[in-house]
Amino acid sequence: CFITLEGLDGAGKSTHVQWLVEHLRASGRQVLSTREPGGTALGEQLRDILLHTPMEVHTETLLMFAARSEHTRTVILPALRQGIWVVCDRYTDASYAYQGGGRGLGAAAIQQLELWALEGLAPDRSWLFDVPLDVARQRLSAAREPDRFERQGAAFFERTRQAYLVRAAEQPERLRIIDSTQTIDDIRGQLASELNALIAA
Ligand code: C5P
Repeated sequence: CFITLEGLDGAGKSTHVQWLVEHLRASGRQVLSTREPGGTALGEQLRDILLHTPMEVHTETLLMFAARSEHTRTVILPALRQGIWVVCDRYTDASYAYQGGGRGLGAAAIQQLELWALEGLAPDRSWLFDVPLDVARQRLSAAREPDRFERQGAAFFERTRQAYLVRAAEQPERLRIIDSTQTIDDIRGQLASELNALIAA
């Protein structure tokens, strides 16, 4: 089973990844926890370039997919084939949101790359941690130094958030929205019940 977590920077996604992995392991599942961009030695090098080097949007998108293709073919698919559950912090939905929406490339280009680079591999379940922009920005400024993406203006993040919400509206069964203004306990409650249904399926 392939699970991904999505959301704007500062939406609280990372807080829940570890908990989700522990919850799954406690249920007896073997779990691989990984992230994007990254997840392989090459992917981590590409991540470093992506986070710190200004570049044109097509270049950025291709590097994201280069990292994702390597990660998918050498890590994610082999694990899934062995029956291991994979939990990935961001996947292709992030490209629909950040490059497609935020940077304005549009969904059609991302869809073409998805088909070509990943042979259409999609997660079985994804959770979108959604918060209004001002909340995300407040949390972020308290947490750490911003990377290249996090230094973008409010309009960029609003476009990114809306593109995520469009994806969730198009694929409501797979991509579930979590209102990330709720307390951590409430969010865990929602995650646990949806996860338990997934485990039982
Ligand atoms: O989630 P994490 O903080 O690890 O993501 C690293 C950075 O890469 C974030 O600032 C995120 O906005 C950006 N990113 C992106 N496009 C993607 C995936 C991540 O701009 N497809």
